[in-house]
Amino acid sequence: MIHKKIHLFLLLTFIPFLSSNAGKAKTDWLQYVNTLQGTNSKFELSRGNTYPTVAMPWGMNFWTPQTGMNRNGWIYQYEATRIRGFRQTHQCSPWTNDYAAFSLMPVSGKLVVNQHDRALSFNHKNETAKPHYYSVQFDKGLKAEMSPTERGVFMRFTFPENEDSYVIVDANNDGSMVRIFPKERKIVGYCENANHSVSKDFANYFVIVFDQPFESFGTWKNNSGDIFAATDFAEDNYVGAYTAFKKGTVVNAKVISSFISIEQAEQNFEHELAKYNSLEEIRDLAAAEWNKQLGKIEVEGGTQEERATFYSCFFRSMLFPRKFYEYNAQNKAQYYSPYDYKVHEGYMFTDEGFWDTFRAQFPLNVILHPEMHGRYMQSLIDAYDQSGWLPSWSFPGHSGGMIGNHAFSVLADAYVKGIQTFDAGSALAAMKHDAMQKGPRGPSIGRDAAVKFRELGYVPFNGHGEATAKTLEYSYNDFCAMQLARKAGQKEYEDFFAKTIYNYKNVYDPDTRFMRGRLSDGSWQPNFDPLAWGGAFIEGCAWHYHWSVFHDIQGLINLMKGNKNFVAKLDSVFTVTNDFHVGTYGREIHEMTEMKMINMGQYAHGNQPIQHMTYLYTYAGEPWKTQKRVREVMDKLYNSGPDGFCGDEDQGQTSSWYVISAMGLYSVCPGTDEYVIGSPLFPKMTVHLENGKQIVIEAKNNQLSHPYIKNAKLNGKTFTKNFLTYSELMKGAHIQYLMSDKPNFKRGIKDTDKPFSLSKKTK
Ligand code: CA
Repeated sequence: MIHKKIHLFLLLTFIPFLSSNAGKAKTDWLQYVNTLQGTNSKFELSRGNTYPTVAMPWGMNFWTPQTGMNRNGWIYQYEATRIRGFRQTHQCSPWTNDYAAFSLMPVSGKLVVNQHDRALSFNHKNETAKPHYYSVQFDKGLKAEMSPTERGVFMRFTFPENEDSYVIVDANNDGSMVRIFPKERKIVGYCENANHSVSKDFANYFVIVFDQPFESFGTWKNNSGDIFAATDFAEDNYVGAYTAFKKGTVVNAKVISSFISIEQAEQNFEHELAKYNSLEEIRDLAAAEWNKQLGKIEVEGGTQEERATFYSCFFRSMLFPRKFYEYNAQNKAQYYSPYDYKVHEGYMFTDEGFWDTFRAQFPLNVILHPEMHGRYMQSLIDAYDQSGWLPSWSFPGHSGGMIGNHAFSVLADAYVKGIQTFDAGSALAAMKHDAMQKGPRGPSIGRDAAVKFRELGYVPFNGHGEATAKTLEYSYNDFCAMQLARKAGQKEYEDFFAKTIYNYKNVYDPDTRFMRGRLSDGSWQPNFDPLAWGGAFIEGCAWHYHWSVFHDIQGLINLMKGNKNFVAKLDSVFTVTNDFHVGTYGREIHEMTEMKMINMGQYAHGNQPIQHMTYLYTYAGEPWKTQKRVREVMDKLYNSGPDGFCGDEDQGQTSSWYVISAMGLYSVCPGTDEYVIGSPLFPKMTVHLENGKQIVIEAKNNQLSHPYIKNAKLNGKTFTKNFLTYSELMKGAHIQYLMSDKPNFKRGIKDTDKPFSLSKKTK
């Protein structure tokens, strides 16, 4: 069972602070954010697989205390008792692991450098974990604090009185260098620890400037045991540096890095850190920026725990994709491309897995952050130009994880909603290219069985892993490409992609009433078992993938011969067994364990394939079931604490699900301009848009026991449809719901009330 805990440390009082110029009380939204949300995770069981990220929104570098070993994906685990360093990280999830990571660690007393000996014990009581500020007082008295800039961090180490005081720099293995400049109180270096997605010369160049003189210094190597040397330079597989300071002092360290060069790292230092001399200045700047972003949604009412969960999730929705660009001396953006390994002018973003995030993250971003999103969309086309493929799982180059061509979804969704910062013709040419051939790295670059998908109408199960999941996702992806082509008036592309948008029908087996693996001779995969994971699917079973017809839910209803069967199947998801069969995985993977623990039948909210399913009742004339279920999920499967998620958080996706669901909306089919209506969480929410307009969402009589929409008004006019369009929202909207403890069986049941589907109702 997932226990819902109310965390004492979050029961803070409401503290308004005065903004310096306006003199008007502004809310400190950061008070609600707990960055430890989801950190109680391990290999066998994910409660988020997050770490206490210290960062600016979409910052180029993140920072975190590190409890795990270097190169271990579990960077910080809530149950761990010792911290080994304060680390620059780019990790999306333990399953991707990290790249370009290095760390600093204060040490007092005896000089020890390696990650085992230098680790210090701590207690969560003595820890503060916020986006803009992290601090921990170790059991032996030493205190460490840090606050971020976009590419750097300001660290402060307070050493115990009368004890020798050191700072260790750990540049990690797989290639590193350190060079010490004692007069300038500076250490520069690089760390590589790259992954297979980038070239061999990829490195992260860092600059560290201390405010205290070095009493002594040296370098260390860790190949097989520590080798110390009183030198100012070391370069090898695994090197580090150490500096000694006056006993019991306070040391400030300004740390920054670049993916381009040490010179560029110095430039970044000038831009972000040079003129600041206290942690407080950096902390306050970071707090102001976070409050600006978090203040885009002002929540009123709800419980303290609901607000804490909401803002902790909202914080996590604003970390990825990462800004991968840096400013040169002329203040122009430029970046090291993880796709062609050259330096280019402009903006690049990375560290993003679209299989997870096309669903809720980007449909949320197009509402809240259209300017940044527009830059991101152009950078996807640049990535294609530089590498020959659209990104799917960029980390930082093409990492090849998961399946589908979901850049189609993200690009089309932006374009149809009017974010047209990129050339549609270039995007469509890229999509056609990627839809026609298999890529070089992993199933998510290009398309597996591209020709067979077009010729047979599905990806055959013989010879192709995850064949039915791919068929479903490619059908949807091609719909997205078609939408973009239609909007851009590119008839040839529209016709090309239109040929495959109904291919999902070819993997529906009317006998078992499930999507099912199908062989190239047309026969069905033998020994069908709807509880078996893997096989024709990925990270799920037939119960989860049945709903992956995002663009044609009515078509799926028609395949199932009507609303009655469709609704019965939706209901069954929650009432059938929560058992699983390990299938082709051959062992229990954490997603299986988490589904079992959720104890809502086959509803596996801890992974992405089924996350839109609760919204599908609105297509079949029973929207009240959506309203009840989404509130149940928000209430039962999320909280603000270390157990805050019911599975992997995944670069903002599972957090964004909560944020957008709390708005009473969800984007079942990105690539259309519609948001399906669920059940708003709070009595009132005000969304401040970049265009200066507001979306005000009011829900009278709202509480968990009153999840049902009795009636709804948009700008004073009653409406019954189960969706709102992007333009209705973006021109400013006043949405008023009257909530009830009883379903309104008359509202939202007409055909015109249903959200978009390709197919019309057949009977
Ligand atoms: Ca996942």
